[in-house]
Amino acid sequence: MKSNQNILCVLYDDPVDGMPLSYPRDSLPEVSCYPDGQTLPTPDNIDFTPGQLLGSVSGGLGLKDFLERSGHRFIVTSDKDGPDSVFEKQLPEADVVISQPFWPAYLTRERIRKSPNLKLAITAGIGSDHVDLQAAMEHGITVCEVTFSNSIGVAEHAVMMILNMVRDFIPQHEYAKNGGWNIADCVKRSYDIEGMHVGCLAAGRIGLAVLQRMKPFAVHLHYCERHRLPKEVEDELGLTFHESAESLAKACDVLSIHCPLMPETEHLLNDRLIGAMKRGSYIVNTARGKICESETIARALASGQLAGYAGDVWFPQPAPENHPWRTMPNNAMTPHTSGTSLAGQARYAAGTREILECWFADKPIRSEYLIVEKGKLAGTGARSYTAGNTTSGVL
Ligand code: NAD
Repeated sequence: MKSNQNILCVLYDDPVDGMPLSYPRDSLPEVSCYPDGQTLPTPDNIDFTPGQLLGSVSGGLGLKDFLERSGHRFIVTSDKDGPDSVFEKQLPEADVVISQPFWPAYLTRERIRKSPNLKLAITAGIGSDHVDLQAAMEHGITVCEVTFSNSIGVAEHAVMMILNMVRDFIPQHEYAKNGGWNIADCVKRSYDIEGMHVGCLAAGRIGLAVLQRMKPFAVHLHYCERHRLPKEVEDELGLTFHESAESLAKACDVLSIHCPLMPETEHLLNDRLIGAMKRGSYIVNTARGKICESETIARALASGQLAGYAGDVWFPQPAPENHPWRTMPNNAMTPHTSGTSLAGQARYAAGTREILECWFADKPIRSEYLIVEKGKLAGTGARSYTAGNTTSGVL
């Protein structure tokens, strides 16, 4: 049993007007299990109301009472970057770090070196590339994430972005909102998705959910994946499998990215790959910003090689005000929000609590939550990631 632990938790800021006093809906829909049969998080208890804001500093993932009751010290901050940040100052004392991909506390090799007590890094969400996984392996740090907690929400966001871009929704909404009725201006870049070739780079939990959701749109579906899907799934969805990302990119009108960020996928979408796509293709990236070369994307939109780019992942995060993706033409970017709907927050908060309960009680953490354990990739990490580091370039 572990006691007196220092839990350092980095979360995004509260809303600028303070925490909501009410919410648009009174409850969240019931979801009994994930699509592959994996059970939802199973903490012994929760001290929060699902459907309320939990992912920001005051929400504290609903962990405060549980941790303080159990005699642990809980520090929550959004101040994460630079040598004077609360995160950097508290790290030397931390036994456990909790962070989110939306507002990542980058655990670089240098920071890991400064945290002699650190034994567990939890991603409240999915995608642990903000941790130098190579350094974590070398320092015996366990890294885990709340696998599946927000995968379906991200798939929904990706589908929304595909439709949004191909139909060119945003300018049409702007005309309506601003009192206009300029039909020709509204539709001069608007297409139907029907009949297009739509592909996913990776068909894990999110990629497969996107393919399933796109099937009713009468499109041709393609994918490229390290672990090929079973033949029944390929037949049911009418999927074309591609051995390489390049073959997939050439075939598609719309390419949606769903692989983890790791050394083999860092800057995979570069000039060569995007140059090989059909003129006027669309890219959706809800995986990680660094899988794409940022200047290449901006240039390809300006030249018309890409007709649109949508996504909610950037590098670094938060993105600087002058990041080219904020202003490039025909972008449909959001800040990193797809995985942190109120439903997603309830699940990753409960999953974080489950992981902590196991950790304190010296019980095994579910293998699907594990990325790194005992000096090597483990669980989902061993299946979906390759070893290495992708944090270079952060502060
Ligand atoms: P997952 O582990 O179920 O799927 C990842 C898949 O990628 C695996 O099936 C793996 O085999 C495949 N893969 C790995 N390398 C590949 C390669 N080079 N080419 C093709 N396929 C490859 O994870 P998931 O739940 O589907 O999440 C995928 C990624 O999405 C995460 O790693 C994370 O970076 C990102 N994500 C983003 C958000 C968000 O809020 N925007 C939320 C959750 C996850």
